[in-house]
Amino acid sequence: MQTSLAAASVVRPPTRARRVTLLALGVCIAALLAALATVMVHATFSAAITPFAPAPADGLIAEGEIVTLADEHVPAVARLDGALHTALLQAETDAAAEGLAFEVTSGWRSPQYQQWLLDDAIQLYASETIARQYVATPDRSSHVTGDAVDIVPLDAQLWLIEHGARYGICQTYANERWHFELATQPGGVCPQMKEDAAG
Ligand SMILES: [Zn+2]
Repeated sequence: MQTSLAAASVVRPPTRARRVTLLALGVCIAALLAALATVMVHATFSAAITPFAPAPADGLIAEGEIVTLADEHVPAVARLDGALHTALLQAETDAAAEGLAFEVTSGWRSPQYQQWLLDDAIQLYASETIARQYVATPDRSSHVTGDAVDIVPLDAQLWLIEHGARYGICQTYANERWHFELATQPGGVCPQMKEDAAG
C-alpha cells in the first residue's frame, strides 16, 4: 500500500503537469492560429477596400514640389523617353539663355496613376465624356509610355510652343498648353494639334 501510494505520488504529479502543459500549449497554438487568421482576413479585406493613392514611384509629383529635368532620381523624370528628355534638356539650355527655366509638373505615369487621374476627372466633371477630353485612358496616354511631359511656368510653355519644333518638341493637344511630346524631327514642322486628349 505504502509502496503503491509512493509510486503514485511519484508518477501522478508529472502526468498532471504534462497534461496541463500540453493543454496550455494547445491553447497557445489555437490562439496563435486564430490571431494569424484574423490578420490574414484583415489584410485581404483591407487590400480589397483601400483605394489606390498615387506615390512618387507611380510618377506622382506632389503639388508645390519643384522638379526639373535634372531630377533624374524622380521616377516621373527618370522614366521619360530618353530622346524626349535629351531634346528637352537642349531646349532648356537655349531657353535659359533668355532667362527661362522649365519645371516638370508631370512626366512618366504608371497606368494605375493614369486611371486614378481619369477616375478623379470623371468625379470632378460628373461626366466621363468631358473627363476624357482632359485625361486620356491608360492605354492611350503618352504619359504612361514616357512620351509626354507637362511643363510650367507659362513663359516656358510659350517659349516651347514657339521654338520647340527646333528640337522636335510639339504641343500636341490644343487644350493643353503645358503638354509636350516629341512629334517631329528637329527643325521640322509640328503636326496639327489634336483638339483634346479624347481626339
Ligand atoms: Zn500632359
